Amino acid sequence: MRGVVMHAPGDVRVEDRGDPEIIHPTDAIIKMSATCICGSDLWPYRGADDVHDAPMGHEYVGIVEEVGSDVRNVRRGQFVVGSFVASDNTCEICRAGYQSRCVHAELMGHIGTQAQYARIPLADGTLVATPETPPAEMIPSLLAASDVLGTGWFAAVAAEAGPGKTVAVVGDGAVGLLGVLAARQLGAERVIAMSRHPDRQALAREFGATDIVEERGDEGVARIRDLTNGLGAHSVVEAVGTQQSMMQAISCTRPGGHVGFVGLSHDVALPGDELFSSMVHLHGGLAPVRRFLPELIRLIWDGEINPGKVFDLNLPLQDAAEGYKAMDERRAVKVLLTV
Ligand SMILES: [Zn+2]
Repeated sequence: MRGVVMHAPGDVRVEDRGDPEIIHPTDAIIKMSATCICGSDLWPYRGADDVHDAPMGHEYVGIVEEVGSDVRNVRRGQFVVGSFVASDNTCEICRAGYQSRCVHAELMGHIGTQAQYARIPLADGTLVATPETPPAEMIPSLLAASDVLGTGWFAAVAAEAGPGKTVAVVGDGAVGLLGVLAARQLGAERVIAMSRHPDRQALAREFGATDIVEERGDEGVARIRDLTNGLGAHSVVEAVGTQQSMMQAISCTRPGGHVGFVGLSHDVALPGDELFSSMVHLHGGLAPVRRFLPELIRLIWDGEINPGKVFDLNLPLQDAAEGYKAMDERRAVKVLLTV
């Protein structure tokens, strides 16, 4: 089969990779319907993470092609969505809703789903089948559920977005934009998107943002305080992962408020004294997308949300290198690869 391999920073190629096979009786093989490029794939692409001949991709939707002898919950021919972390969904950590840290967790990024097929470990726990094969126009939204929607959703839940709350969102990538959508769906009264890009601001408004703040850093914090009677937001979603974005998120939050942080952390070091005086709740990390998948699939299936709008460039898998370039140069928010 064909699949994406990143040989070194900036060097992405689509080449022949071995066909996946069932290794464990709990595995399934899926034929990819669509996959995509993640903002986190840009860290190695830009040389911020080590990379050497790595298969790429961790987001996926597709049709079950084959199942191992112990798989009970999904069968050949079903359309399935899975999280970017495979999980058994039965261990104590999973049952508490933290499937991304399942005691048997496997990162799909190590398998590489930017490919025609993929082996899905722990298929019974990882995959959720849709009620029927979805129409083509629904596939981008279901694919978004695999990571960016689920991650934005977790961030909003971790930030305790809900009725009567003012939510601020730091980061206008796909996860931040879908954090806006999630906050609104969870009933937040006011959602402030922090973005300086007109096209992303427009999408944020479409997803339910009531206010836009263009300033960053101290100025951004001051604007959020202006909009919240000097108190700060009740809930803040952090969807970048840098020192500046994390401190901006904490500083935008009122005492007693909640920060949901899901930007993949890169060299963030929190100063104890500022944390001590902030009196905010911090919760986040690798999103347990599997917890939310059944509900997210239902919302998409019923046409209540359309998160697939974050994909603003569609390319064939074969042109993945162009997709990486477009995202790196910020010409695209998120690239969908058709298989
Ligand atoms: Zn588990």
